[in-house]
Amino acid sequence: MSKLVIVGTVAFDAIETPFGKTDKILGGAATFIGLAASQFNVDASVVSIVGGDFPQEYLDLLADRNIDISGVEIVKEGKTFFWSGKYHNDMNSRDTLITELNVLENFNPVVPSEYRDAEVVMLGNLHPMVQMSVLDQMESKPKLVILDTMNFWMDCALEDLLKVIKRIDVITINDEEARQLTGEYSLVVAAQRIHEMGPKYVVIKKGEHGALLFYNDNVFYAPALPLEEVFDPTGAGDTFAGGFAGYLAKTEDVSFENMKNAVIYGSTLASFCVEKFGTERMINLKSKDVHQRLQEFKNLTQFDIELT
Ligand code: AMP
Repeated sequence: MSKLVIVGTVAFDAIETPFGKTDKILGGAATFIGLAASQFNVDASVVSIVGGDFPQEYLDLLADRNIDISGVEIVKEGKTFFWSGKYHNDMNSRDTLITELNVLENFNPVVPSEYRDAEVVMLGNLHPMVQMSVLDQMESKPKLVILDTMNFWMDCALEDLLKVIKRIDVITINDEEARQLTGEYSLVVAAQRIHEMGPKYVVIKKGEHGALLFYNDNVFYAPALPLEEVFDPTGAGDTFAGGFAGYLAKTEDVSFENMKNAVIYGSTLASFCVEKFGTERMINLKSKDVHQRLQEFKNLTQFDIELT
């Protein structure tokens, strides 16, 4: 089994959906990625930063799942990163209401020495220079580097983002962000443009419409499971990325064929994430639930046509 380094936000989120509203609850890209990756029992380490206002019990939640948190810096006199968002009625799009960087503004990530030889690195949504710094600390080139980002960083740090994108193997990005990054409407053309920027593999997430994996001229598509309950999509993208990275770290096979399975695992885990507010569903997720849903996924997508 490979080691996995995850860098990203550990945060407070306040969320509003057509179904309700929360006060500050546990969130952050690295939190969702870590919870998803923990389903694979991989040796994972989260590198992040929080303020003195961050409850120890939230950190324990990660540690209880065997995630190494020695790389989570606690700034006693600082405030934790805070994000607030409001979803539209279609639940597929949202507006960011508040982004308070707080302790993130002066974050110099330190990868714990035991994880500097990790084979898989998941660069979660963060300032691209922080993502770059994590890459620079690795002892040798990891077997696989995956990067997730969002429009916020394209708006305020595009040049840096392009520099780090040059050094990665896989990018996971949503459809709107792929269009913003490339200026192309067609996702097929957008994926080609992103290939030219560096990554060999491009994953475009389309929310309730599933995800596309591009590798040169090959495309693989996984739908999202049609769900009875969609309560809060926050963290679905990160959960997808965590499932994708966790599965690849566990199987140690980074071929295109195996990445298809990683996309299925990512989609399956994301389908749980949206069923409750914040991290609630992921915290209580059992491996038998995941197994059952993978079976549903198979049933949904399998068909047998004879081509003559
Ligand atoms: P997702 O719904 O997967 O796109 O991710 C939502 C998570 O991203 C929330 O838990 C937020 O705390 C976190 N987040 C929101 N904005 C940012 C940002 N600019 N940088 C890093 N993380 C963010």
